[in-house]
Amino acid sequence: MKIIDGKAIAAEHREGTAKRVAEFVSKYGRTPKLTVIKVGNDPASAVYVRNKKIACEAAGMLSDVIEMPEETAESTLLSKIAELNGDASVDGILVQLPLPRHISERAVIKAISPSKDVDCFHPQNAGLLFNLDEATFLPCTPAGVMELLRHEGIDVCGKNAVVVGRSNIVGKPMALLLLAENATVTVCHSRTKNLAEYTRNADILVLAVGKAKFVTADMVKDGAVIIDVGMNRDENGKLCGDADFADIGDKASYMTPVPGGVGPMTITMLLANTISAAFAAEERKIGK
Ligand code: NAP
Repeated sequence: MKIIDGKAIAAEHREGTAKRVAEFVSKYGRTPKLTVIKVGNDPASAVYVRNKKIACEAAGMLSDVIEMPEETAESTLLSKIAELNGDASVDGILVQLPLPRHISERAVIKAISPSKDVDCFHPQNAGLLFNLDEATFLPCTPAGVMELLRHEGIDVCGKNAVVVGRSNIVGKPMALLLLAENATVTVCHSRTKNLAEYTRNADILVLAVGKAKFVTADMVKDGAVIIDVGMNRDENGKLCGDADFADIGDKASYMTPVPGGVGPMTITMLLANTISAAFAAEERKIGK
């Protein structure tokens, strides 16, 4: 079994992004900027936001973090987003999820201008996943998975791809990206009967469930490619994926580890979306 080294692939990809940033700066005389809004004190969110800031700066981009208190009113957050939508120095806006319960995620996602929606969660951008050639952005985690497959030379065309999980953030867009590459895609979820019958048929198995070591060797086809999006804590508090990595072992042909697999690619694709947003903004100005 080959372990797919997401960290190394992400580092390669980020070099390419840094070059695009340098080209942008010399062409347009300004530096692309991502603004991240964090509401409340969720400790995991604090780590994610810090990592995004560090990655942006390493790629040569500016990164602002706006911290708002837990009790922030939804209307205050929406006003801040409206202000950033109108600020020409801001190329990408990301509101870190989850939000406090009194704020509607849907309302916040819809408030971000689609041209600055670098998470690709706005319904307009999500809809463009039906017509990928028109899309400026791809959703970061599924796009990162596609990059990992491409990097390893894993041809998706004609393969049975099974996605376990159907969230708007991972499972559903993942299925669309695989379908666009001509995989035969099955999406499973908590109401799927006899899950193992589907997973055992997968040439490519993408796991986005959120349950530690949920998929074991008996649920996997010999030689399957396993992409593990899950980020969980095991019984000892150690980070682990949805796949039981040790149990599956050589039954898989390729597998992503957790940590160090899909995770580093998610931020990498966020950087790619931010520089794409910056180029698109400048091209709109000159009416291209
Ligand atoms: P989510 O919104 O909670 O969705 C989980 C999905 O798993 C749901 O569609 C659910 O089905 C399905 N599911 C739950 N129990 C199941 C079962 N017993 N059998 C089959 N399907 C089952 O989670 P998410 O946001 O998609 O994230 C999934 C995992 O990926 C989490 O561990 C998250 O932390 C991780 N993640 C990692 C990254 C990264 O960059 N590495 C990015 C995003 C998310 P229903 O729809 O029927 O409820």
